[in-house]
Amino acid sequence: MIALGAITFFTLIPRATFTPLIPLAFLVLLSSLTSAFKVQFPIASGSNMSVSYVVDIAALMLRGPHATMIVGAASGWSQTTLNSRARNPLFRTLFNMSILVLTVQAAGQVYQRLGGSTAADLGTLAIAIGGMALTYFVVNTVPIALAIALTTQQSAWRIWKTDFASSAPSYLIGAATAAIVIAVGESSGYWLTMLLAAPVLYLTYKMYRAGVESEARQGTILEAAHDAIITMDQQLNIREFNPAAEQLFGYARLDILGRKVELLLPPEDRAQHLRALSEYLGTGKGPLAGRQLELRGLKSDGRDFPFELTVARTGSDNRAVLTGFVRDITGRRALEEQLRQSQKLEAIGRLAGGVAHDFNNVLMSILGAADLLLMQMAGDDPARDEVTEIKESVRRGAGLTRQLLAFSRRQATQPRLFVLGEAVAGMDTMLRRLIGPEIDFEITAAPEPVRIVADFGQIEQVVLNLVVNARDAMPEGGRLIVRVDEVDLDDIAAHALGDAQAGRYARLGVTDTGTGMDEHTLAKLFEPFFTTKEQGKGTGLGLSIVYGIVKQSRGYITVASERGKGTTFTIYLPSASVPEPAAPVTVSTPA
Ligand code: ADP
Ligand code: MG
Repeated sequence: MIALGAITFFTLIPRATFTPLIPLAFLVLLSSLTSAFKVQFPIASGSNMSVSYVVDIAALMLRGPHATMIVGAASGWSQTTLNSRARNPLFRTLFNMSILVLTVQAAGQVYQRLGGSTAADLGTLAIAIGGMALTYFVVNTVPIALAIALTTQQSAWRIWKTDFASSAPSYLIGAATAAIVIAVGESSGYWLTMLLAAPVLYLTYKMYRAGVESEARQGTILEAAHDAIITMDQQLNIREFNPAAEQLFGYARLDILGRKVELLLPPEDRAQHLRALSEYLGTGKGPLAGRQLELRGLKSDGRDFPFELTVARTGSDNRAVLTGFVRDITGRRALEEQLRQSQKLEAIGRLAGGVAHDFNNVLMSILGAADLLLMQMAGDDPARDEVTEIKESVRRGAGLTRQLLAFSRRQATQPRLFVLGEAVAGMDTMLRRLIGPEIDFEITAAPEPVRIVADFGQIEQVVLNLVVNARDAMPEGGRLIVRVDEVDLDDIAAHALGDAQAGRYARLGVTDTGTGMDEHTLAKLFEPFFTTKEQGKGTGLGLSIVYGIVKQSRGYITVASERGKGTTFTIYLPSASVPEPAAPVTVSTPA
């Protein structure tokens, strides 16, 4: 295109007449200035007419196609050089200049071929001006649509149809305007025309300033907005994408402009949401009308996230655009989930506590009766074994109700200060018996005593539950380590745990080399009654009890697990270790 423009320009420019020079210079100046200020008259149905076009047409009528190439090239240069905030690469400037050179040359040729001249009669002149305007329109817009289509990978025909075709009438009106200006100029002389043009130029400059200011204002709003703001055109192509949107979706503005909005939605939701958007765009009705919706969005890295969407529709019915205000609600969702979880725990806790209490009484009376029965039996009664079996089962049942009671928090906790490592060490023999010889078991504790304030029995229960789970995850044997130490969490580490505060924490880790967990299990892990174990083996209460106790002790629990590799549960409890006593200070009393 650039080569074609250059060849045309340099082969035809020798044929141009440059005299009289001043009016030609004036036309060049006028055309450059109006392009620089991008002065446009808004006309019917939202299309715009640029004043520099009117100048080009006037120049064509007055000076013919060859000299007007200078006017066109000048306006092409100023458009890319003066009228843009960012620096344009040289090829864009040359491209623009070439297009305008070719456009004015073609339009001028058509005008002359159709018999256009100031001396022609009105009918011929009208036809010539019309032909010139349409030629200008086509030659000017088609290559631009093509260029946009090539760089944004869209259909050129569609771009031309939506962005350019509607401005055809403004080209005709512009040409007519030029003809009228010339008729006035012819009858009153160049100097008067220039005089008349001065206020017009001044006004256009004012319009330009006002436009720049309102654009800047709009830009500031878009940039400062906390919400992602995305504007879509009739084809649901993205036309505006503010910094918040860049951050939220992970696309750079320049990469996403002109692309389909569906890119921001997960594939399975696309059809439905696009339908809603189109309906709202076309009719102003549908599920989006005046409502806030919660949808899922898709980031550039493929992750999805929940967002809240409000859509505004602006413009007239056939040229409406949609602006979407998108707010990330991942954080809110997580909080809701937490709340739901704790409400559920509380409800189940209350229920379980009530049942466990009564059930425990029943068990105690069975136990009492079994004891009485044993006493009444002869020492060699063959039924003694069965009664002993009954007692054993009742005891196991009572153990379960104790768990339930702890879970329900009905059992009043008795916090006291103790050394966490000692509590764990005290369970060593019991835990070893529980997990059996196939598992390599080790307890490691930091040399410094790690002190906490908590319910001793509850902490034992936490260790027991975690160890039993680890054992269950290693049916073929493996390695199980319980670790006790102390850490200082900074703000970032504390934040990673949820709402934790920075500070010193006692840390209890239980690591196994067992089966690990999949995502589904990880997501439900702490839910009461969630178990992957076969019926009769798991109650699904172990970890929810652990969770309850940890929360009650103002602590935090995290889990890291990899399928086939193993699992580590880590519990953080506020440390109660007394800081090292400071060196004694001697105070000398002044005499
Ligand atoms: P239960 O042990 O009765 O199934 P829990 O609440 O203790 O209930 O555990 C819930 C589920 O979490 C278990 O069924 C298991 O799938 C999984 N789980 C817990 N601890 C581990 C672990 N250390 N390794 C693998 N999976 C585990
Ligand atoms: Mg368990």
